[in-house]
Amino acid sequence: MRLFTLLTLFCLALPVHAEGFISRLLNKPVPGGVAVVDLGTGETAPNVRYQSKPVLVIKEDQQRWIAIVGIPLSVKPGTQQISVNGSKALSFQVGSKHYVEQRITIKNQQQVNPNATNLKRIQRELAEQTHAYQQFSPRQPSNLLLDKPVNGPLSSPFGLRRFFNGEERNPHSGLDFAASRGTSIKAPAAGKVILVGDYFFNGK
Ligand SMILES: [Zn+2]
Repeated sequence: MRLFTLLTLFCLALPVHAEGFISRLLNKPVPGGVAVVDLGTGETAPNVRYQSKPVLVIKEDQQRWIAIVGIPLSVKPGTQQISVNGSKALSFQVGSKHYVEQRITIKNQQQVNPNATNLKRIQRELAEQTHAYQQFSPRQPSNLLLDKPVNGPLSSPFGLRRFFNGEERNPHSGLDFAASRGTSIKAPAAGKVILVGDYFFNGK
């Protein structure tokens, strides 16, 4: 919080800066982080893709176009590339980041090694979720820094490496907040809910 205030003051004190506020605030190019890539000036927003997926492009300080690139947790440190307008490739460097490990003992063996029926359900649910994740809205987001949905404490961090009964599973790809039952939850940004369900691993 204090760092944020300092950054704000710093920016207000400088009339011109080579790198904008959004770039400095969001640019954390590590696995599971965000790379902000400068695209230069121009009349229209460049069309950017990373790993064949569309990338959010915004105009910073009403001058330069920047790409806000989400880096998967599975990316290894090194050079990554985005394509701009179907051809020109721009590179950015991904550093390393250490994520904490969590080892939990689960009594329900089905959640460690699900049987055939549950595996079918998991596959169906994964397909539904993947389809939802593939949706892309070209509209500008209402806010780039998402609001906290509740004021509860963080109960599980993003990127946590999980081991169920000693077997490594997918890392935690969300950010969990703890709150008591019945607490109203605020949408972190303006948007449209496109998927609601009761899932084997995710719950409701
Ligand atoms: Zn979670």
